[in-house]
Amino acid sequence: VSTWSNVVEGPPAILGITEAFKADKNPKKVNVGVGAYRDDSGKPYVLPSVRAAEKNIFARGADKEYAGITGVPAFTKAAATLAYGPESAPLKDGRVCITQSISGTGALRIGGDFFAKFYPGEKTIYIPAPSWPNHKVLFTNSGLKVKEYRYYDKTGIKLDSAGMLEDIKNAPQGSIILLHACAHNPTGIDPTTEQWADISKLIKEKSHFAFFDMAYQGFASGDINKDAAAMRQFVADGHNVAVAQSFAKNMGLYGERVGSFSLVTDSPAEKKALDSQLKILIRPMYSNPPINGALIASEILNSPELTTQWLGEVKGMADRIIVMRESLKSNLEKLGSQKDWSHITSQIGMFTYTGLTPEQVGRLAQEFSIYGTKDGRMSVSGFNSGNVEYVAEAIHKVTS
Ligand code: PMP
Repeated sequence: VSTWSNVVEGPPAILGITEAFKADKNPKKVNVGVGAYRDDSGKPYVLPSVRAAEKNIFARGADKEYAGITGVPAFTKAAATLAYGPESAPLKDGRVCITQSISGTGALRIGGDFFAKFYPGEKTIYIPAPSWPNHKVLFTNSGLKVKEYRYYDKTGIKLDSAGMLEDIKNAPQGSIILLHACAHNPTGIDPTTEQWADISKLIKEKSHFAFFDMAYQGFASGDINKDAAAMRQFVADGHNVAVAQSFAKNMGLYGERVGSFSLVTDSPAEKKALDSQLKILIRPMYSNPPINGALIASEILNSPELTTQWLGEVKGMADRIIVMRESLKSNLEKLGSQKDWSHITSQIGMFTYTGLTPEQVGRLAQEFSIYGTKDGRMSVSGFNSGNVEYVAEAIHKVTS
């Protein structure tokens, strides 16, 4: 018998939306499943600031030597400043430890492993219901126990703020609470400033630990500071947070796999200890991270001109998404839809959680060749001026 005869085929890692979309011959087909930005002609978008940075790096004749275990220092330093802000007290005190990571996923995984090994409290991480599907598997594989807190109010298509606070309150003292820093995936619903203040206070009271997944800084509102405001407020409130950063969305560096994992500590001495343990943890995983994407991000973040250009491009992406939300909503209203679609424009980031049922999503695919996920989530970046009317008509037909 074969060595692997005991291995049975598992379910596909992600639903076969892209495959179904590719196989569809309808010229009007729309892919709203994809979690990557598309421009107004439906094409992938390489930011001009990224192209400029690549040119500079090439012109300099940068070598291909290994980075250290925790990555390219000029990158991690700039990434920390981007996340925590130039005026951040822990950054100024030299008590933030940070490592480069294989994008946001790798950052979460390093974090999960670090907590599993060293966290002295409850090794249970609470994630929102629903959350990015990879969270649960990833933290489980790290050796943490994963539980959920209520987040989405299905009836109101809004934040279940009371449920969220109640579940965080009832979690055993010292639990780990995973929070989406902005542009919650999949719902597109973020807490308000006031709600964040209540969450911060409660997490403090319960001695919980706040772990921020920041995969969309700048991509939600178009303003990197606004999108980091909740996380920075937690730091100002005295939380020694953990942060997983990704540059996939805000720099469009998806396949370059650029990210970071950071921890705020009490003192430079504690930071030093954690730095050493992060290295010990990472070394047997992949020795050291890839340099290309980190050099690009570093080139942008360390050049004032490129930074300004990049910020404009981030805002351009966020604005196009915001315009598409408005367009989808107004088209639905023009068609005479009696439903309340205000959530399409109040939600933020890459996705809209439409409130469509799995059956309606199925009809969109079968009858209109519009492919989204069964939970009713649609990637707004899949919309453009050429297809938004068509999508609105289809949604109107399946919902009336
Ligand atoms: N967290 C969330 C909430 C996400 O939506 C994503 C990307 N879909 C990630 C983390 C990780 O993405 P990446 O590894 O590409 O940075």
